[in-house]
Amino acid sequence: TTTHPTSVDLFEITRTDNPVPDEQREAALASPKFGTVFTEHMARISYRNEDGWTGRRVEKYGPLLMDPATAVLHYAQEIFEGMKAYRHADGSVWTFRPRDNAARFARSARRLALPELSEADFLGAIEALVATDRAWVPSGEETSLYLRPFMYASETFLGVRPSLEAEFLVIASPVGPYFAGGVRPVSIWVDQEYHRAGDGGTGAAKCGGNYAASLLPQQLAYAKGFEQVCFLDASTNTQLEELGGMNVFVVHADGSVATPPVSGSILEGVTRSSILRLLTDAGHEVSERPIPLTELRQGLADGSVREVFACGTAAVMTPIGRLASDDFDLTVGDGDAGPVTTRIRAELTDIQYGRATDRHGWLHRL
Ligand code: PMP
Repeated sequence: TTTHPTSVDLFEITRTDNPVPDEQREAALASPKFGTVFTEHMARISYRNEDGWTGRRVEKYGPLLMDPATAVLHYAQEIFEGMKAYRHADGSVWTFRPRDNAARFARSARRLALPELSEADFLGAIEALVATDRAWVPSGEETSLYLRPFMYASETFLGVRPSLEAEFLVIASPVGPYFAGGVRPVSIWVDQEYHRAGDGGTGAAKCGGNYAASLLPQQLAYAKGFEQVCFLDASTNTQLEELGGMNVFVVHADGSVATPPVSGSILEGVTRSSILRLLTDAGHEVSERPIPLTELRQGLADGSVREVFACGTAAVMTPIGRLASDDFDLTVGDGDAGPVTTRIRAELTDIQYGRATDRHGWLHRL
């Protein structure tokens, strides 16, 4: 199924000399809490301005030694990606639309003035790591191996200019079902005070700084009893953008579906793009267009908006059951997962886990 070559064969593999015993790994895979358990190896490529990318390798997972003057620690020149490896019933392991993540990573690199990594190296590193740590891909329902490619400015230098050195790594973490005990609607605080990104800023890049900016609003919303924040556009403070780590969709009573356009300040989600495709295939009228908060409030009040959901790699699709802010508090539908959300989520996970035909060629064998 590999249609383009990757650089996987260029990776030098050095296995840990102290492997985790099988029973211990099986115990860790049984109920992993998101992002707390890591596999035994990491993939790595190093960049220097004069040499380009060199030293493709897989090595023992472990701490990075850093000079205190390393650029990333001061100016946050860092980008990352998030994707998953899924084990199918026949034991084979696949990832989902990795070329879209490679392309987004390259766009993020450009925006953060980091060196671009080729698609061949991005995929090669993932293939080399998953081949080495294949036993860490869990097989339970809705479990997966979460993959975290990232790149940071590694030059030891305190001047404010793009780093001449960078490190690219991929680490992996087995994850359980996002919702233990079934998909559950979340409550959302619509933030009219803080923004995560502005016009001309870094909102469309997957850089650590965007997430740092979202932590305080998220913390304040949590203290009010809400699980997630939905941000509005920074220019007019009137239109929906996205959540801290998920895109957002609105489903209407007439079956039409809308999601905010990728205007430069939101992240172009791979899940978002896949859902747009599946909705279109299913005959829904879909539009990528600005969604004013006033329109959403009106639609929830008069029943013309039936479902609202968030989407991203980690939770796939999360129904939103309640939307509130300082001046409103509204329930979505009857507060439960709606039929469109439920059906499209099942279609998407069926493709990811090999239970349905991959008619769009989204899967990539690892
Ligand atoms: N928006 C933001 C801000 C995100 O961090 C993510 C997660 N990568 C998404 C949207 C969803 O993107 P994807 O579907 O590619 O995971």
